[in-house]
This record gives sequence, structure tokens and C-alpha cells, in this order.
Amino acid sequence: MNIQEIIAKKRDKGVLTQEEIHYFITEYVAGNITDYQAAALVMAIYLNGMNNEETTNLTLEMAHSGDVLDLSDLGTVVDKHSTGGVGDKITLIIMPVIASLGIPVAKMSGRGLGFTGGTIDKLESIPGYNTAVEVDQFIENVKKIGISIIGQTGNLAPADKKLYALRDSIASVGSKPLIASSIMSKKIAAGANKIVLDVTVGNGAFMKTKEDAAELSYIMKNIGELANKETVCVLTNMEESVGYAVGNSLEIIEVVECLKGNIPEDVKEIILTLGSYIIKLAGRGDNLEENKRVLLENIYNGKALEKFKELVANQGGDVSYIEDTEKFEKAKYIVPVVSEKPGYVKVLDAEKIGVTSVHLGAGRVKKEDDIDKAVGIIVCKKVSDKVEIGDTLAYVYANDEEKGKKAVEDIKDAYEICETEVEKPKHIIDII
Ligand code: URA
Repeated sequence: MNIQEIIAKKRDKGVLTQEEIHYFITEYVAGNITDYQAAALVMAIYLNGMNNEETTNLTLEMAHSGDVLDLSDLGTVVDKHSTGGVGDKITLIIMPVIASLGIPVAKMSGRGLGFTGGTIDKLESIPGYNTAVEVDQFIENVKKIGISIIGQTGNLAPADKKLYALRDSIASVGSKPLIASSIMSKKIAAGANKIVLDVTVGNGAFMKTKEDAAELSYIMKNIGELANKETVCVLTNMEESVGYAVGNSLEIIEVVECLKGNIPEDVKEIILTLGSYIIKLAGRGDNLEENKRVLLENIYNGKALEKFKELVANQGGDVSYIEDTEKFEKAKYIVPVVSEKPGYVKVLDAEKIGVTSVHLGAGRVKKEDDIDKAVGIIVCKKVSDKVEIGDTLAYVYANDEEKGKKAVEDIKDAYEICETEVEKPKHIIDII
């Protein structure tokens, strides 16, 4: 067996055997298959797809490419993951709330991918926060304070770590088998026994239609069941960006505001829906409405914010930034994007917002790029909002004047304003 034959088979729309997938993953992780060979195979999978059996085999090979944790002595651990979005800071709000209710949270998150942001990049904008925690410490953290959020460090799903960065740099992220195997391999390796997935749908997501998001959900649910991990998928709207902030430290500031109880409508509906299922899967309450009530209670009484501070402190972060978010370094140029006509916001194109934030430096174009933690966009007007001429639609946060000017034009393009009233969008599309 050799990698050229495997690439050729997938290029010609063949079905890969378990042995071929095993060979690819083990030899790629061992460094015997080059990035350009892996890139060719990944692109062939992107273009020609995989059947369910191939996707399951790929997931299991990726999950077992490193250690697979057993968290059973922590009780029922529920994990959460998003298929990615723009302004998607949901993990950083919901997981401290869940931990504040005494449900253990052991979460391995990713970096920004394509035009979407990543939880790990956001956390690293808190000075000192260490995302590169070894497995033993990860488990210790959960035992000690009930929560740990780490990056793909140590030996957990190393195949995904390599493939994730590679896919990002060769425009091959938005593929169902590649997303399903990436997410589910991490979830299996990280050891939680229940999984709640936020499957985003729309312009700012990798799944552009409800049908595609549902198909991806069934693939992941099926893999979860095979791995004996009950999995619930919540399909959420990603036509417009989530909440108001897009960009790393800007989103951390919004997370802190949400944990203080100042929660935008869309964020609130998404965290309450996901959170109510997390509590249910954890065996802590079947009544979803009651679960939503307890989630809100722990936000409004300050316990969730305290838990977030505990998480930050325990992973080496400087809590004074959470206590006073004014301490985060500001971008050099903060430029308003002004409406040139009156009416109602019909479209706020999340993909354009995401791409603009990457161009400002909030995401990576090449896998080795550094990101600029301070830049991004603050959205002021969302779909259905009324606007007058001269109203501020958004603010661009830039550290480069030219990039800032270009971003202002791109954000104007992301908005469509119409004359007639626009209905408020639905934030939860379906539950699978
Ligand atoms: N999140 C992941 O972890 N992997 C993907 O492929 C997409 C979103």
C-alpha cells in the first residue's frame, strides 16, 4: 500500500477501505506522509466525499491516533462543540454556567478555521491563559474546579490537529466527512460520555442550508451512538454573526458582559437551548424549561462569572482583565461604518463579516500566521433593526489604517437595508 494509490483511488471517486484509512492516518501522524500528499487526499475527499462507513472509519482512526481519555471517575461529563461560526463565543458563556451548576466540563477546543473564529484563539487573548495543558493536568483541573478548556495539545487526536491546520490552509474545511471526523474524533478522544453539538446553518457557517446541516448532524449522531456517546445536535442560525462582537479579545469582553447578565437576544436563546440539553444529558433534569430557568439563575446571581474567573485563574490567566475588561489592549483605529440609507436591516452577511475580520488580522490566512487579538468588528445593527441615515451599523477595530479603510467598505457590503419591516430571525432552526 502507498499513499499515491490511496490518493488516486479517492481522486477517481473510489471508496477507501479501513486499512487504507488506517495507513493514511498512522503514517501521516508519524511524519511519513508529507503535507502536500495529505493535502491532495484531503482535497480529493472534499471534492468526492466519503460514505458513512468511510467517515466512521476515518473518525475512529483519528480518535485513536493518540490517547483516548477515560473520564468515567468524574461522573457524567457532557461535552459541547460547534461546527463553527462568526462571533460564536457560545462555549465560553455556556460552559462556565454548566460548571457552576456542578456538572463537570472537560472541553478540548480548536483554533480559528477559515472565516470562523476559534475558542482557543479567543482564550489566548487573556494574558497568561495556558491552553497547552497536558492530559493529566486537564483531568486534575476538572477534578479541582469542575472545568477545564484546553487546545489540542499533548497526544489527544493528533491526526485532527495536523489535518485541521492543513484543511484551513487549502480551502477544504466545509466538507461533511471532514467536519464530522474532525469534531467526533476530538470528542471521542477527550472522553466525555455525552455530547451536545451546535450545528450552525447559513452564510457564516460551513453548512449553508438546513438540509446539509441536518445531514451532517445525522452523520455525527450516528458516530456518537457507535462510540456509545449519546449525542444531540442543535441547529442554530448563522446567517448573521452571533451577538455583537467578532474578533478575539472583543469577544472575550462580550463573554464577560453576557456572564454579567447583559445577553443579546440570539446569544440568550442559543445558550439556553444548548444548556438545557446539556443538563438533561447530564441526568440533572428532564424539564427543559426548568433547566433554562436554572441556567439564567446562575448567570444573574453571578455564580457563572465566578466560575469563569476560576477557570481563567486556574489556567494561569490574569483575572484582572476579566474584572476590568478596559485593560484589554485596544486597536489603534476604531472606525464607524455609517448607514447611507434609512430602512430595516434585511441581511447582515456573516461570511463577509468573518472574512473581513480575518483580513483585519483576527484569523489566519496561512497556518503559521500570528493573529492580532485586538482587531475585529463590533456589530451595532442586526437583522430586523430599524436604521436611519447616519446611524452606525458597526465599528471596525483595526491596527492598520489601510486594512481598516477596506474593512469599512466590506462591512457596508455585508449589510442590505430595505424599506419594509423585516421579521426577527429564528435563532434555533431544529433539534436532531
Ligand atoms: N470544528 C472542528 O473542530 N472541526 C471542523 O472541521 C469544523 C469545526
